[in-house]
Amino acid sequence: MPTRRDYNTTQRILVTGGAGFLGSHLIDRLLARGDEVICVDNLFTGTKRNITHLLQHPRFEFMRHDVIFPLYLEVDRIWNLACPASPVHYQDDPVQTTKTSVHGAINMLGLAKRVRARIFQASTSEVYGDPSVHPQTEGYWGNVNPIGPRSCYDEGKRCAETLFFDYHRQHGLDIRVARIFNTYGPRMHPSDGRVVSNFIVQALRGEDITLFGEGTQTRSFCYCDDLIEGFLRLMDHEPADGATFTGPLNLGNPVEFTIRELAEAVIDLTGAGSRLVHRPLPADDPKQRRPDITAAQQALGWEPRIQLREGLQQTIAYFDALLKEGKSA
Ligand code: NAD
Ligand code: UDP
Ligand code: UDP
Repeated sequence: MPTRRDYNTTQRILVTGGAGFLGSHLIDRLLARGDEVICVDNLFTGTKRNITHLLQHPRFEFMRHDVIFPLYLEVDRIWNLACPASPVHYQDDPVQTTKTSVHGAINMLGLAKRVRARIFQASTSEVYGDPSVHPQTEGYWGNVNPIGPRSCYDEGKRCAETLFFDYHRQHGLDIRVARIFNTYGPRMHPSDGRVVSNFIVQALRGEDITLFGEGTQTRSFCYCDDLIEGFLRLMDHEPADGATFTGPLNLGNPVEFTIRELAEAVIDLTGAGSRLVHRPLPADDPKQRRPDITAAQQALGWEPRIQLREGLQQTIAYFDALLKEGKSA
């Protein structure tokens, strides 16, 4: 008896948040390997510019939709990336941010349950909050303020993880949870507000570079191509012993820098004459962050390859071209 698989062997993939920075890079990789992709996005922080090059692609489809509302589709796999990621944007409408993480997760998990699709969650190092364990391992439960300005994002993502693991235990759903650490690269929005894009855009415009606090807080920056490779390995991973594999798995670059060091690298690479100026440190800003990626190295044989300066050069070239085109709005 023929099955649907005999009729069409292409994998049908749903990517929520697909017009965003990471989502659009993921879609490029999925299309390149022959998958059929439905990109769902409400364009809150994403932009059509990130997917313009795909609009005529025969295996690509864009759907403007908010994941807070139910969605009925027939797909084989789901990548749930929809959620503003920059503190500036997720704090702009914090109730919407929690709804996106929580209702969005419920709807995508409900969809996955109905069609029995494997589902990936873009979780975050923010589940560790302002960590007292350093570097952060997956076993650390975190230090998160439940009522602060970052809580809509941190607690929303924590609740989404809870939902993923409850759908897994209660309904046998095939889940993959990645905890993503600060990732940067081309296609970040010039007004994204996160540190790498801010510093590069400020340097290229010859403006002052805004160090929040003393700039002694640390982050570990992963280039987008390295991260997407980790995404694909996590989603495709089938343990040899047939064991269940869910994560959560830290994905990020374990090389740690202070924010001041990042600013100095950007000034050096752009040749900008920008000054460093201090601005108040936002509430609950984590003081340090570095992933322990031992679990990803062991399970997936994955680790980042692109050094910060090399990734910054690619990102600077992207923003330089974008600003020259005058498309910075
Ligand atoms: P981004 O803001 O560029 O992308 C998020 C996308 O989700 C945007 O296109 C936005 O329009 C869309 N979106 C937001 N709310 C939506 C909704 N309710 N319905 C439909 N679409 C919606 O950010 P990004 O860096 O590409 O982040 C992608 C995912 O990865 C997010 O879930 C984010 O939390 C997670 N993440 C990213 C990082 C990072 O460093 N880039 C770190 C940790 C986690
Ligand atoms: N849902 C969806 N698409 C589907 C199936 C479900 O958006 O294809 C939504 C539906 O609106 C529901 C949620 O996912 O509220 C959770 O679904 P589930 O079946 O787990 O729970 P229930 O329908 O019993 O609330
Ligand atoms: N930051 C900064 N100047 C900026 C933007 C951010 O000094 O213009 C700092 C911010 O306070 C934080 C770090 O850079 O300590 C990373 O901020 P980002 O918003 O990129 O992400 P986070 O890791 O805090 O979610």
